[in-house]
Amino acid sequence: MSFSALLVRLTDIHNLEQAGAVLDWDQRTYMPAKGSEARSKQLATLAKISHEMFVAKETADLLAAAEAEGKSFGEDSDERAMLRVVRRNFDRETRVPTELVVALAETTSRGQDVWAEARAKNDFQMFAPWLQKIIELKRQYAAAIAPGLPVYDALLDLFEEGMTTRVLDPIFAALKAHGVPLVGAIQQRGKKISDEILTRNYDPKAQEKFCHYILKECGFSFERGRLDTSVHPFCTNFSQNDVRITTRWETDWLPGALFGCLHEMGHSFYELDIDPKYEASPLAGGVSLGIHESQSRLWENLVGRSREFWEKYYPELQSAFPAQLGGEPLDAFYEAINRVTPSLIRVEADEVTYNLHIILRYEMEQALLSGAVAVMDAPAAWNEKMKASFGIVPPTDKEGILQDVHWSAGLFGYFPTYSLGNILSSQLFAVAMKELPNLRGEVRKGSFGGLLEWLRTHVHQYGRKYKPADLVKKATGQPLSTEAYLKYLTEKFTRIYGL
Ligand code: ZN
Repeated sequence: MSFSALLVRLTDIHNLEQAGAVLDWDQRTYMPAKGSEARSKQLATLAKISHEMFVAKETADLLAAAEAEGKSFGEDSDERAMLRVVRRNFDRETRVPTELVVALAETTSRGQDVWAEARAKNDFQMFAPWLQKIIELKRQYAAAIAPGLPVYDALLDLFEEGMTTRVLDPIFAALKAHGVPLVGAIQQRGKKISDEILTRNYDPKAQEKFCHYILKECGFSFERGRLDTSVHPFCTNFSQNDVRITTRWETDWLPGALFGCLHEMGHSFYELDIDPKYEASPLAGGVSLGIHESQSRLWENLVGRSREFWEKYYPELQSAFPAQLGGEPLDAFYEAINRVTPSLIRVEADEVTYNLHIILRYEMEQALLSGAVAVMDAPAAWNEKMKASFGIVPPTDKEGILQDVHWSAGLFGYFPTYSLGNILSSQLFAVAMKELPNLRGEVRKGSFGGLLEWLRTHVHQYGRKYKPADLVKKATGQPLSTEAYLKYLTEKFTRIYGL
C-alpha cells in the first residue's frame, strides 16, 4: 500500500522532470535566442517544484513506510531495487545543506560564463579564482553526501555508482601502459594516413539525408524518435517512446555528424529498450554514465568504424557524395576515419589517444581536489602531463587546461565514465560476438537485429535495476576488464598501420 502510494508521488515528480526535459531540448534546438531568459526561469520553477516534492516530509514518510513493507518483497524483486534507488537519491538530496546547494548552483553558473570568456581570451588567471572556489565547494559537497568516503570516490559515485579510485587506478594504469607505446609505434613505424578526403565540402542537406538513412538501417524508429540539429550533440528522452537525438553539420568534416549520429543513436537505443513496465518509475532510464557511454561507443566505434560496416554502406555514401568520394577506394575511407594522431583537444581525439586525454584529467582532478597541485600551478602540471603522454605541449591554455567546460560546471569525477564506456563497449561486444558467431557477417549485410536484441536482453531492459558493476557481471560473466578492449585496439590498429 505505502509502496504504491510512494510510486504515485514519484511518478508526479518524474513527469515534472520530463516536462523540464522537453523545455531543455527545445532550448537547445529550436528556441529563438531571445527566449532564453524566460526559459531559464521556467526550468528553474519546474526544478524547484520537483525538488521540493522529492525532499518533502511526505516523501520521507512514504519511503520509510514502503521500506518497512519492502522486506516482504524478494531479494531480486523490482520493488527492492526501486527502494534502493530511491533511498540513495533521497539521502543524497537531503544531506546537502541548502546554503551549499545554492552556493554551488551560483558559483558554477557564473563559473561557466567566466570559463567561456577566459577560454576565448586564453586567460587562465581569470578563471583560477573560480576554479579554486568550485574545488572548495566540491570538497564540502563530497563530505556532505558521503562522509565516510574519500572525496574523489564520493564524486565518482555520483556518475557511476560504486566506482572508486581503487578500481579505476589499475584499469587506467593498464590503458596508459598500452596506449603510450601504441601511439609511439604508430608515429614511428606506422604508415602515413591522411584524412583529407573527409574535409571535402560535404553538403549538410546531403549529410542529413544519409544520416537519416543510416539511422533507419540500424533500427532507429522515427515513430519513437527524432533527429534534430544543435550546437553540441546530445540525446534526451521524454518517455520510453519518445527519444530525441541531435547532431551538428559541418561542411568540411564529414565524420562529425556521421559518427555523432551513430553515437547518440547508441544512447537512444538504451533508453528505448528499457522494459516498458519501468516507464516513469524509479527504474526508468540508463543506470550510469559509464554504461550509457558503452552503448554509444559500441555503435559509433565497434560497429560504425568497422570495415564490415562500410563494406555495406560505403558504396551508398559514395553515391551520396560522388564528387568527394566517387574516386576513393573503400580502404582510403576506412583508414581516414580511423586515423590516429596525438592531438591537443579531447573531443577530436581518435580511439587510441582518447583515453590518454581522460587519464590526464583523472590525475589532474585528484591532484586538485587533494591539494597536491595548487590551482595556480595547474596549467604547468597539465602541460607536463601532455608532454609525457602525447609528446606535445599545448601552445596556449585554450588548447590545454581551458578546453573543457566540465570543471567550471562543477563536474569532477565525470571524465572517467568516458573511458569506462570505451572499455565496456569492447567487453560487451566480445561477449556478443561469442554468442552471435556471425555478428561481423551480419554487420557486413547491414543486419543489426541480432545485436540489438542481444543488447536489449543483457543490458537495456534492466534500466536502473542493477548497480553498474552487477550489470557488467551479469551481462559478460566477468567484472569490468580491459582485456577485450586492449585486444581490440591492438588488433585493429596494428592492421591499419601495418605495425
Ligand atoms: Zn555519449
